Amino acid sequence: MLNFSLIYVNISFFTSVLSLILLYLIWRKRHVAGSKYLMIVAFSVAIYNLAYALDYSATSTTMKVYWSKWEYLGLCNLLPGLFLFVLEYFGIVQNIKIRNIVLLWVVPVLVVVLAWTNQYHGWIWSGFGEIDPVTNLMIYYHGPFYAFGIVFQYILGIILIFTLVQQWIKFKQRSFRHQIEVFITAVTLPFLGNVVYLTELNPLPGMDWTPIGSFFSVVLITLSITTFRFLELIPVARDLVFSLIQDGIMVVDSQQRVVDWNPALTQLVPNLSLQLGASAEQIFRMLGIKNNPFRSIHESVNIEVEITDPEHCILDIMVSPLVRHKAFDGWLVIFDDETERRIATRSLEKANKTLLQKLDEIEKLQIQLKEQAIRDPLTGLFNRRFFDEYFSNELIRSIRTNAPISLLMVDIDHFKSVNDRFGHDVGDQVLEMLGEILKTMFRKSDVSCRFGGEEFLILLPGLEHDQAFNRAEALRERFEQASRDAEFLYAQVTISIGISNYPLHADNTRDLFRIADKALYQAKEQGRNRVCCYNEHLT
Ligand code: GH3
Ligand code: MG
Ligand code: MG
Repeated sequence: MLNFSLIYVNISFFTSVLSLILLYLIWRKRHVAGSKYLMIVAFSVAIYNLAYALDYSATSTTMKVYWSKWEYLGLCNLLPGLFLFVLEYFGIVQNIKIRNIVLLWVVPVLVVVLAWTNQYHGWIWSGFGEIDPVTNLMIYYHGPFYAFGIVFQYILGIILIFTLVQQWIKFKQRSFRHQIEVFITAVTLPFLGNVVYLTELNPLPGMDWTPIGSFFSVVLITLSITTFRFLELIPVARDLVFSLIQDGIMVVDSQQRVVDWNPALTQLVPNLSLQLGASAEQIFRMLGIKNNPFRSIHESVNIEVEITDPEHCILDIMVSPLVRHKAFDGWLVIFDDETERRIATRSLEKANKTLLQKLDEIEKLQIQLKEQAIRDPLTGLFNRRFFDEYFSNELIRSIRTNAPISLLMVDIDHFKSVNDRFGHDVGDQVLEMLGEILKTMFRKSDVSCRFGGEEFLILLPGLEHDQAFNRAEALRERFEQASRDAEFLYAQVTISIGISNYPLHADNTRDLFRIADKALYQAKEQGRNRVCCYNEHLT
């Protein structure tokens, strides 16, 4: 049994040293929220266990009681420290007020003070039993305030475990849950030890199993920090990203089996029968993907899929090989919902098409409007507005190139009486007939226009006066013939034509107009149905 006592002392001593190592490990991660409380806890566990080791090695009642007082000093920080750590680490309470921190320590500090002054009142220990010569254990008879301290610690412990369970339920991330599980175990073990110590279950009366429990707790937390990345944010952050990201994610192992997926994937494709170990290829085939994308272990494969059940949805799927330390582990599949983007693109394309159509229509309308602005609607010939500008430009060009240009002014003879005798419609038809003749008789470069009413102008660039006269004569004859042949006309209709010419008569449009007009007047004077060149002697 003495050996057992030795083992026990060694365990306590070892736990104490381990707690100091743990303190150092936590200190290295001191940026983590709540770590300062965890450091207080680790330091307290070190004091507590060292005091226990010394308590169990002591052979006199006085020394045992003395070291017990030190145990109390360590113990008093444990649960408040753990409690504050949990509150800060899980972000349950931000900025814990100093007043509340002090309040948490009121009862533990009171119990410590009472323990250290026990010789005066006996409120913590009312008496001490004999030291067992074999186990070196001594039974402590507890006073009224011992229970007070214990009840407080138990209440705080139960609240702590309850809070941790709540956090476990709240966080679905695997790594975070692991951390919480480790913590719950670490808190529960010393508790169980204490329960065994205080109840009939204790196989060795006077033997406190709390330090043994705390030994396992310290080992567990130390291992967690060194091996399982406890107090590390990266795995938690990664898990958070995995579960919060809107893209669906699926992890497939090297045997093409599904090993993990995130909640977004089940939301995105609810009909996907996701099961641990299910064949990823089969799942893809169900999505209508015939080519197995899990073939390349070097390159990513990008697939687009359109599904209609339960909702129409376009998925952009990226299958990337997972390679760690040059070894192939499996694939990471990312499902991106392209539907909205695609719908937006499609409607944008549609809007663009309509816009282009509208622009085309507008362009056509503009051309039409432009045409209308320069055309006479009845004959389709150019109108006066166009002619004026065109004439100026052509004359400038003729002057510059030293080329002649002739102007014919045409007027239908006695047109008023045509209207009066046969009606306005027939008059219109006569105008149209003349328009058609002008269009067919003259070259493209010879521009004809309806000048107004029954008067027409023809510009003949490059034509000398005589040539122009011949063309005018031909026109007059042609019209005369046409009017004779026209079925809608029961009378002969003729035209008179006046001619002016550059350089013969003038070198500006105003005078050339005026002279052609005068020539026309002379033609009318001379009996109509004739072509006249301006002759100043006749005026
Ligand atoms: P003159 O031989 O001296 O030129 O005699 P006229 O009757 O042709 O001359 P006047 O200027 O007196 O008459 C021109 C007529 O042309 C008057 C008008 O009613 C007619 N007229 C003008 N524009 C149009 C039109 O667009 N359609 C029709 N049917 N008649 C028109
Ligand atoms: Mg007239
Ligand atoms: Mg006339």
